[in-house]
Amino acid sequence: MIIVLRPDATQAQIDHIIDKVQKLGLKPMVSTGTERTIIGVIGPEDILRVTPLEVFPGIEKVMPVLAPYKLVSREFKREDSVIDLGRGLKIGDKRIIVMAGPCAIENYETVLAIAKEVKQAGATVLRGGAFKPRTSPYSFQGLGEEGLKILKQVGDDLGLATVSEVMDTRDVGLVEKYVDILQIGARNMQNFNLLKEVGLTKKPVVLKRGLSSTVKELLMSAEYILAAGNFNVILCERGIRTFEDSTRNTLDISAVPVIKQLSHLPVIVDPSHAAGKWGLVTALARAGIAAGCDGLIVEVHNHPEDAASDGAQSLLPANFASMFQDLKKIAQAMDRGI
Ligand code: PEP
Ligand code: MN
Repeated sequence: MIIVLRPDATQAQIDHIIDKVQKLGLKPMVSTGTERTIIGVIGPEDILRVTPLEVFPGIEKVMPVLAPYKLVSREFKREDSVIDLGRGLKIGDKRIIVMAGPCAIENYETVLAIAKEVKQAGATVLRGGAFKPRTSPYSFQGLGEEGLKILKQVGDDLGLATVSEVMDTRDVGLVEKYVDILQIGARNMQNFNLLKEVGLTKKPVVLKRGLSSTVKELLMSAEYILAAGNFNVILCERGIRTFEDSTRNTLDISAVPVIKQLSHLPVIVDPSHAAGKWGLVTALARAGIAAGCDGLIVEVHNHPEDAASDGAQSLLPANFASMFQDLKKIAQAMDRGI
């Protein structure tokens, strides 16, 4: 249920409504928009039949939300959400945000060298995993806190925002301390305790679509984070498992406009994990922007042959720079900046 407040509703009226909703045993989630404030009401709504809220001063209308994902839905919020990423960056408005860097943080020198190149090319967010979800327990698992320190150091040195994956509820506080943006990986999209935990932080969260998850399941997972109080969620299409085996995953390009229709949250595309091969990354990145995404997350490595993980899908810095020139043209055609 959504309570739409009148544009002239006073703070006292809003507080009164919130108090009433809470006393009814329901959970009010306030979203302050540019024009008006709306309150999402979570919980058994039947109770409102006997207590019609419409009569409260300051309320314009009370509407049911039909979608199972409430706070995430366009019904709840009509205009696009613009999320503050820190360091003066925003995602969800006209400017497309490009996040780039190695799959895994390996050492300071390598991250610094890659970061300098991606920044020079136009990226504004540095990616790098310190906790790596690997299929094999014998593969490189990431540097942990040491890696996060390196990422933060390089981000601070070059003035880049940072994004890194958190895999465990016990590490949320730690990762949050070092990065600007938390990442929930595809394998953890339905780790509901982890979703609730990042929902308790105020940090932006990149939520990657699960390997075999539907868009609806992705939106339901995002709902966990919003329902816990964190509205700063960025959805990521990174390819899904299909019968097609010429790519690592199948980039579901339709997911971009579908999510845009169903939700107000920003959407980014990860062409690297979709392709699995560096030679396909540029085409998929171009397609993502043409489909209307708000950003990209791309793997780049200066020595892909020696990369600790995902070398085959990592672009060389020079290829990343030339891709960026292509992306500028597509962004312009879409009436967006990059
Ligand atoms: C990654 O970003 O390096 C990663 C592991 O991605 P995903 O969770 O999409 O597989
Ligand atoms: Mn990777």
